[in-house]
Amino acid sequence: MFTPFFHKALSSTVPLSISYHRPPPHHSRHQHRRPTLAPYKSQGKSNSKKSETSSCTPSRSPKEIMANLFRARRVGLTAATLAVAAGGSYVALRDPYVSSNDRNAGGTALETFRRKITDPAAVVPSRALQKSSLIAADSSSPLDILVVGGGATGCGVALDAVTRGLRVGLVERDDFSAGTSSRSTKLIHGGVRYLEKAVFSLDYGQLKLVFHALEERKQVIDNAPHLCHALPCMTPCFSWFDAVYYWVGLKMYDLVAGRHLLHLSRYYSAQESTELFPTLARKGKDRSLKGTVVYYDGQMNDSRVNVGLACTAALAGASVLNHAEVISLIKEDGGERIIGARIRDNLSGAEFDSYAKVVVNAGGPFCDSVRKLANKDAKPMICPSSGVHIVLPDYYSPEGMGLIVPKTKDGRVVFMLPWLGRTVAGTTDSNTSITMLPEPHEDEIEFILDAICDYLNVKVRRTDVLSAWSGIRPLATDPKAKNTESIVRDHVVCEDVPGLVTITGGKWTTYRGMAEDAVDAAIKSGKLNPTNKCLTPNICLVGGDGWDPAYFTVLAQEYVRMKVSHTGKIVPGVMDTAAAKHLSHSYGTMAEKVAAIAQNENLGKRLAHGYPFLEAEVAYCARNEYCESAIDFIARRSRLAFLDTDAAGRALPRVIQLLAAEHQWDKARQKQELQSATKFLESFKSSKNAQFHDGKHT
Ligand SMILES: Cc1cc2nc3c(=O)[nH]c(=O)nc-3n(C[C@H](O)[C@H](O)[C@H](O)COP(=O)(O)OP(=O)(O)OC[C@H]3O[C@@H](n4cnc5c(N)ncnc54)[C@H](O)[C@@H]3O)c2cc1C
Repeated sequence: MFTPFFHKALSSTVPLSISYHRPPPHHSRHQHRRPTLAPYKSQGKSNSKKSETSSCTPSRSPKEIMANLFRARRVGLTAATLAVAAGGSYVALRDPYVSSNDRNAGGTALETFRRKITDPAAVVPSRALQKSSLIAADSSSPLDILVVGGGATGCGVALDAVTRGLRVGLVERDDFSAGTSSRSTKLIHGGVRYLEKAVFSLDYGQLKLVFHALEERKQVIDNAPHLCHALPCMTPCFSWFDAVYYWVGLKMYDLVAGRHLLHLSRYYSAQESTELFPTLARKGKDRSLKGTVVYYDGQMNDSRVNVGLACTAALAGASVLNHAEVISLIKEDGGERIIGARIRDNLSGAEFDSYAKVVVNAGGPFCDSVRKLANKDAKPMICPSSGVHIVLPDYYSPEGMGLIVPKTKDGRVVFMLPWLGRTVAGTTDSNTSITMLPEPHEDEIEFILDAICDYLNVKVRRTDVLSAWSGIRPLATDPKAKNTESIVRDHVVCEDVPGLVTITGGKWTTYRGMAEDAVDAAIKSGKLNPTNKCLTPNICLVGGDGWDPAYFTVLAQEYVRMKVSHTGKIVPGVMDTAAAKHLSHSYGTMAEKVAAIAQNENLGKRLAHGYPFLEAEVAYCARNEYCESAIDFIARRSRLAFLDTDAAGRALPRVIQLLAAEHQWDKARQKQELQSATKFLESFKSSKNAQFHDGKHT
């Protein structure tokens, strides 16, 4: 296994095109409408990961994840060679590969769930129905599992558990992914920092972590192909040592990925590099670019993957409810075991109880507050750390190529990544307090701008910042660890109160594996009887099964966008490539439903000038994706708030009008929506924000 792969790695000359590893495009609309039910492409074995502890160091930050890998200037090539050998031997010695077919003991169950999820006529149960089934879960008929928290982890748990044949409920106090899961860097990555540790400490455990994350990286992309893709990332080299060192390090990253590799990394000369990334500076004050090494990680639309997880779980039979908060936990009479929760519907204010054999706490950075509901003296296990990102116009980075500088002159990590037609740059990393609406500080914005300007040949202007956001990373300590300062390298699953299983830590990339571990723990805790094993390696999120990158052509060729003009006349507009591609990537095979609304209900207008979001999406999301507020739409269903706060503000009145029609909101509710969404948008910007209209500044 090792030899041919190594040979392939060394002879890499792949072009820089993005390939989805999908079947060749179909050209018939019919084929698009009938998602394939053939066994999914072979997947690696899903490992059960053991949580591991390490001493608490600030090196948990993303800044240092990259920085540390490349810190090995001190160590040199000998160690790198050893690393290749270590990586190779791990690849050779790791658990034997198990195909999806071997793994899929419950073949019939898998087909049943796939049919439910891919049925073009299927619609998620209404919010009212979801709420009543949670209420119906009383002490005589409890759920198997009640999940607290609708981020990546919680929705991953709900999908895993329901597809094992368990009766599952999930409550999220705000919206799905309203916490950290919509505020990430959007990278699906293997964690090169662990690779460095594995290499320089000859640590097999670290190597396993990297292998696992790389396996999950491929899995996330395969399971939501419309929302995720491979992204080439360029690492500039300003000395020949850097060039050799980065090349060896990133080849190793390829090597450890093994069959989960996205594309091979390769070296580009300085000339080639600036052709690929025109804004990259070739000359600085005291240095000149020698070349770059381009490697691949994944990139995603994080909140849409998260909402996709929630909706897929709902289609599979889970009762998922957003805007519903656990306000207390119910203990069994005269005992300690948690047997349910008191929940407040944050939209109506009504409270109800829901009983479950096990409660899974997936509260992310807030999981300590849920643990404290069970035991007010619970030792905190979250060590919060905040990260800030800014969004810049597209001209800062080319489409389809990121720039990552692992270590700037002053030790910072800096990156610029193309995302949804704009450029995301970041990130900072600092200690923080835990809040639901973290705000970026002006200093942090300046810090990022200052860091990127050293690597660009264009002026970097504060007025170009279209949006800025902050997120809180749930770094976890193991509550059972003797050393209170220890932060775990991966994720933690613990049951410190009987009946309450907490899952936290980890990262977006590993949400599926984390969910699998949490459900295993819940099954043990509640002596539950699942009907089949974990199926999530083989379950595509809604819209993903049968999707391919050419799907947008069906929309462009077969739909028109009917629009109501300002004079009230209905006029047709073409479904242009930008809108068709946007719908295809956001909704996968469900995009035709959105296009049909645009065509048949005269909702084909764009919501904001210069952005592809259509009015029809508001209606579709209200009907099919539990979009319950204006913020749910501008922040998590579309990403307008993240991409451009001013554009989001301008779109708000129409978004509210459309949601009012869907949800029968009265005038008072509409006013309240406008107020809360306007306040929310304030947390994404500072007063110096530029006005940005369709690529031009005013
Ligand atoms: C700046 C930054 C960048 C990152 N970049 C990446 C990256 O590029 N790649 C990657 O793999 N990972 C990345 N991560 C990590 C990743 O985003 C997180 O690990 C992941 O999103 C955590 O998901 P979660 O579901 O555990 O937490 P959350 O998304 O925070 O979800 C927890 C949810 O629980 C809910 N909740 C809390 N209390 C209650 C209650 N009482 N009742 C009901 N609901 C409740 C909250 O409202 C919240 O929505 C990044 C993190 C940060 C901060």
